Amino acid sequence: MRLLGIELVRVATRFRVAIGTAAGVHRTRTLLFVRIVAEEAQGWGECAALDEGTAVDPGVDEIAAAASTRGVLRLLDATAARGGELPGETEVAQLFGSSPADRMLAAVFEMAVADADLRLAGRSLAQALDVGPGYETLPVGAAVGIPPGHDVGILRQQVAQAVDDGAARVRVKIEPGWDAEPVAALRADHPDLVIQVDANGSYRMEDAPLVARLADSDVLCIEQPLPPADLVASAEFARRIPLPVCLDESLSSPRRVRDALRNEACQVACLKPGRLGGLRATRLAHAACTEAGVPVFVGGFFEAGLGRASNLALAARLAQDAVGLVGDLSDPVTYLEQDPCGYPGVQHGWVRAPDAPGVGTGPDETVLARLGAERRWFPVT
Ligand SMILES: [Mg+2]
Repeated sequence: MRLLGIELVRVATRFRVAIGTAAGVHRTRTLLFVRIVAEEAQGWGECAALDEGTAVDPGVDEIAAAASTRGVLRLLDATAARGGELPGETEVAQLFGSSPADRMLAAVFEMAVADADLRLAGRSLAQALDVGPGYETLPVGAAVGIPPGHDVGILRQQVAQAVDDGAARVRVKIEPGWDAEPVAALRADHPDLVIQVDANGSYRMEDAPLVARLADSDVLCIEQPLPPADLVASAEFARRIPLPVCLDESLSSPRRVRDALRNEACQVACLKPGRLGGLRATRLAHAACTEAGVPVFVGGFFEAGLGRASNLALAARLAQDAVGLVGDLSDPVTYLEQDPCGYPGVQHGWVRAPDAPGVGTGPDETVLARLGAERRWFPVT
């Protein structure tokens, strides 16, 4: 494809309900999109970065700055080095380094190039990933934050709504002091619901007896109980509690996934393509987990519809490769006031990977204009 230019589009919406986590509260959701414009086709990518970064994930301001400098420059340079031909989707990840910001850039630029490639070829991402019959429709999981004021009533309402919306499992944010009691209340409301809890790194080794109480509520696993850096500590913690440990923030690259598996630091893995560096990086990480017998799920960053569609097709492919757990694949309209993109309808708790050409539905120009999107165009010179 003959590249004409790259556009960065930034637009803000809000969460319907503030998402409280042990690591902070998300209220605003700034969305950063990359648009690739070539003579033959155009493609959109959605960046996963949230407004507030974490210990391992850069925030959206940092990624937007990096995208407008080295991100765009690397793709323009790589195109110039190919005589004006846009690199293919499989080449994009190698344009970026291994820092957290570079992996997020790799993921969003890879998505945009893949979207353009697929539109030109008339194929969906699920088709390109060889998702076979029966695997293209997946059950939907939802994530629920720590409610304002630690109000158990609000939590119960939110989980009831997620279950009404068809969620096959609910991932509930917890932190020290907000754990066994609220989760026991949810278990009483929903005796058969698959419940996971996510601590976002807020416990310490000595909290193992506290965390162990969650086993009474038949919790599937606890996600990221300890801070992300120390995999040996995570392995020790896992030996001390009677429920499986899932790692999320610790799994910041395919290499870290392999290290975690080698240290037996987790029994479940939450793989986030935005953090790991995109589709190919996530499939590498998944292959390592499969070999180790560790089930995975595709985790989300509360994306809009395009990022979710990419995760959906990928989750379908991973489900085909090995039995996995329910991913964060709920419809963005359930947590964002505005989704400028579209997402396939969730029906009876199931969602089908898009089969139209491309990764998914890119942002709608009218909605972008209404929300006052900031746009920057970088032409090929
Ligand atoms: Mg998590």
